Amino acid sequence: MLKSTNPEFTSWIDVPQESDFPIQNLPYGMASSGELVFAASRIGDTVIDLSVLADFGYFDSLPIDNLWVFYQKNLNELVAMPKAVRVALRERLSELFSSENGELRDNEEVRNLILYAAEEIQMLLPLDIGDYTDFYSSIEHATNVGIMFRDPANALLPNWKHLPVGYHGRASSIVVSGTSVHRPKGQTRPDDTKPPVFGPSKQLDFELEMAFITSAKTNLGDSISVEDAEDAIFGLVLFNDLSARDLQRWEYVPLGPFLAKSFGSVISPWVITMEALEPFRTQGPKQEPEVLPYLKTTGEHNFDIELQVAIQPKNSEAALVCQSNFKYLYWNMAQQLAHQTVAGCNINPGDMYASGTISGKTPDSFGSLLELSWKGTKKLAMKDGSERTFLQDNDTVIIRGQARKGKLRIGFGECVTTILPAK
Ligand code: MN
Repeated sequence: MLKSTNPEFTSWIDVPQESDFPIQNLPYGMASSGELVFAASRIGDTVIDLSVLADFGYFDSLPIDNLWVFYQKNLNELVAMPKAVRVALRERLSELFSSENGELRDNEEVRNLILYAAEEIQMLLPLDIGDYTDFYSSIEHATNVGIMFRDPANALLPNWKHLPVGYHGRASSIVVSGTSVHRPKGQTRPDDTKPPVFGPSKQLDFELEMAFITSAKTNLGDSISVEDAEDAIFGLVLFNDLSARDLQRWEYVPLGPFLAKSFGSVISPWVITMEALEPFRTQGPKQEPEVLPYLKTTGEHNFDIELQVAIQPKNSEAALVCQSNFKYLYWNMAQQLAHQTVAGCNINPGDMYASGTISGKTPDSFGSLLELSWKGTKKLAMKDGSERTFLQDNDTVIIRGQARKGKLRIGFGECVTTILPAK
């Protein structure tokens, strides 16, 4: 285990109890303060400017060829550093901010140039996302959708247990937490005996997902083996794949989702690294029938990350509507990336791969309103006495995630978006 992951480690920066960001987390994000934009990390409620740390030579001992990675408008170059360098950077940050280390702690002048209160900072989209894939890797979600829209007796399509089903989505409409999204307009066909109609979606939904970000660059024709796949992953974020179910139902045949999912997808701003998540590895569900050799993994490739979704109507408190876990996924990230590249599709640092809706077995763990309201037949109670089957205008969706083990808590912060009326 890395030194930086030791749960006994403490920082000279104050970390409130139940904080998502102890010194063992050390996430990466893009922050802005007034005119300044910088690569950042975070401990407790303190945001750390990595570019000024580089200015003052605190990274000079690291094998980083080009310190300009800290001065970019996104994390793409930082993410692309070889794994050994990324790990060395993490270990250096851990050392610099650990309670015993006085290098920065005792240098007030420099410290004041580097540290910001999180509330003074605006977080930006961390990456220039080149390509985006959305998988469909929860067996519970795929089964629920199959029962509702096709055939309860054959809920899973024949390919589902043989390959991680996915589609290529739009990277241009991925936005950072805090960005509001307008209700989409489009074609729907509410009555199957009549022609389609045009208007604002009446069945706007969230999808509880996580997304991983690749660090590797491959050439056209190359593939990444399932054994090497995790080393090609930088880290993860929370992901809300907003979905217009009425648009989706009419448009998706036969090529899959199109406009129903490209009007806005929301990510949390802090990228949590694979190194920080190492203590939370766990075995995934048994895969039966056995998968083809290029997809075969043994050992612990799922991660135990608790997930929650809350809906907050305007002028009301948030109501918890779902509690799920990233570990429920049938297909793991290594399998997803191996499959993504097996035909020779090249990938780049900063590409994003979402998990698909993460549902569990129990109704309170379903990761979308489509499932929670069972296609609109069950109503969910809000704190102001109103009810929901799908999202209403001015509703705010809040996704949270945290991995916990003993005293150690590695959190993802929040992925928040408010639904505005159709434009
Ligand atoms: Mn999705």
